[in-house]
Amino acid sequence: MTILIVEDEPAIADTVLYALQSEGLAAHWVQNGRDALEYAQQHGPELVVLDIGLPDMQGFDVCRQIRSFSNVPIIFLTARNSEIDQVLGLELGADDYVTKPFSPRVLTARIRSRLRTAPERPATGIQIDREGKRILMNGQDLNLTRYEYEILATLIRGTGRVFSRQQLMDSAWDEPDASFDRTIDTHIKTIRQKIRTVDPEADPIETRRGLGYAFRTTPS
Ligand code: CA
Repeated sequence: MTILIVEDEPAIADTVLYALQSEGLAAHWVQNGRDALEYAQQHGPELVVLDIGLPDMQGFDVCRQIRSFSNVPIIFLTARNSEIDQVLGLELGADDYVTKPFSPRVLTARIRSRLRTAPERPATGIQIDREGKRILMNGQDLNLTRYEYEILATLIRGTGRVFSRQQLMDSAWDEPDASFDRTIDTHIKTIRQKIRTVDPEADPIETRRGLGYAFRTTPS
């Protein structure tokens, strides 16, 4: 299991590498976007820590390109407030971000929490019926519309991972551009209501403010 560190400043990379290694986590360090993409494609790291200001390309573009072939958790390292706004606003499919200067302990805690959630299975009692385009909760049909089905199925298949509204739209609509962002929020609201009619205590869809939605790994 390897964590890919993409950071052009050796002093920062050293701090991160040291913090991870002292916690027994293996890491591989690259200094630019091109090497990051090559490594991610060939070695499939468990998680990517991605600086935004890289010498050859923006971390945003690295993230977009990684997302075209991988669901690996991505944590951005941001240096300025304007970058945070971009991380949140662009909905790139990043899972988290840490602002510089950061404490190595904070970063490793974030990494550990993403690694914990990534490979786990969805909350119990949820079942996707692909043939019938139905999702069952505790054996009961949630009676989802086509779009609701596609959205929830995407969240369940990527349990633990945050999906941006754009990504959910892409998964559900044939022509994503024709719809407005808020539509996803409306569908999520309806899906939550339908889940509650089956199990009033269940709240398996988590809202990650500014990032999107995720299906929880454990029943809440
Ligand atoms: Ca940099």
